[in-house]
Amino acid sequence: MPSLRLAALCLVCACATTPPPPSEAPPGVERHADAIDWAKAGDEAAQVLAGYLRVDTFNPPGNETRGAQYLADVLAKEGITAELLEFAPGRSNLIARLPATGPANDKPLCLLSHIDVVPAEAVAWPKDKGPLSGVIDENGVIWGRGALDMKGMGVLELMTLVWLKRANVPLARDVVLLAVGDEEVDNLGMKQLVEQHWSRLDCGQLVNEGGLGVKNLLFEGQTVFAVSVAEKGALWLRMTASGEAGHGSTPVPSRAPTRLVEAVKALSTRTPKPQIHAALYELLRRIGEQKGGVTGFVLQRPLLVDWFVTGRLMSKPPTRAGITNTCQVTGFDGKGSAPNVIPSQVSAIIDCRLLPGTTPEAVLEELKGLVKGVEGIEFTVLNADGANESTWVDPFFDALARQVVKGRTDVVAGPVLSPGYTDSLLARPKGTRAYGMVPFEVTQEELGTMHGRDERVSKANVTRGLEVLFRAVVDVSVAP
Ligand SMILES: [Zn+2]
Repeated sequence: MPSLRLAALCLVCACATTPPPPSEAPPGVERHADAIDWAKAGDEAAQVLAGYLRVDTFNPPGNETRGAQYLADVLAKEGITAELLEFAPGRSNLIARLPATGPANDKPLCLLSHIDVVPAEAVAWPKDKGPLSGVIDENGVIWGRGALDMKGMGVLELMTLVWLKRANVPLARDVVLLAVGDEEVDNLGMKQLVEQHWSRLDCGQLVNEGGLGVKNLLFEGQTVFAVSVAEKGALWLRMTASGEAGHGSTPVPSRAPTRLVEAVKALSTRTPKPQIHAALYELLRRIGEQKGGVTGFVLQRPLLVDWFVTGRLMSKPPTRAGITNTCQVTGFDGKGSAPNVIPSQVSAIIDCRLLPGTTPEAVLEELKGLVKGVEGIEFTVLNADGANESTWVDPFFDALARQVVKGRTDVVAGPVLSPGYTDSLLARPKGTRAYGMVPFEVTQEELGTMHGRDERVSKANVTRGLEVLFRAVVDVSVAP
């Protein structure tokens, strides 16, 4: 804790940051959304989602062509042609485009989702509301794997395209629906689009998963929509210890397993320094602005955040991951053949996640330095992707943030750095501004159902989410 005198000094000198004012929607564009009966549109979207959840796209193996075909059938009924691009047998991406009505004044706006979902243990779910049930229960809740991650958002994007067409919204740029496969394992679907088809996609901005609205995130009664504008990079390593092979009955210090244990111990002494990303300062500023009072005063001032909030952020694993370069041992590989045989090589697998501004090379050097006292240790790089980010001074970011808080006094939206990565990480190096926001408002318990059991989303969320997304898309793509 800082001394009182220093703290007092901070209070005097710390200024609230003054960001540029957010952009606004062109006048009169609300009429396109106001003309739609959203309750009815929400009912329809809920039915479409229920059907989509019943399509088995567990990855592995994926089978995303089934999901892509389901979406293509919905579009076909509206007279929108979809293109299916196979990236492996039975696995396809989908592209569907509404072209600009006149000359385009901007690059395409892309709506991205992934078709695949992580596996689910059906026995752990309620019998009549299983992961492939697509049941809409008596409380208007839609059940199934992917309801939140991310078939729900996929349907909001699909129906946004459908409603742009039905409502004859004049477009000043192409709006492109992208539904891809294999996001949950190797990102093969997005890699195909980025490597082979980007010249004709060339998304100026895109919306994807990343953040959603979490109720009571920091304060009781306040929902925070953290819109992901940056994602940490990933450095995956194999750390191999070598030593003399031998008999288990005769331990000596130069054995590979002993060395590996020492090296892992050495890595655990890492004490990464907190680095608060500019996006997090901005999110806290917006939270503070709405919260008011002494807490709000502190949150609006980066210097005071450094002094008074960093400790709290470091004390919880999810927030600590957002402000440090993390490295975690996630498994071990050995070449042992029997309990009494000491192998000549054993390895640990390490997953490091890097903040923007930190290179994979720098972290590798740091780890090498930590284990330099242990003999026979070598690192192999399995994967190295640097972090990347998009500016949030952007009309589409503003539109998403504006629409999701509209009419609500208990909701705040702002940019954030996401500790995990999504397909957005692949799009940003192509010059696309990528934002992660699923316009659903969930409790912390519901958030835990993503990749867990009982994944579900309410029809109310689908209805409001569709309207929010449609309005945000119209704001930045409508022709004058
Ligand atoms: Zn996802």
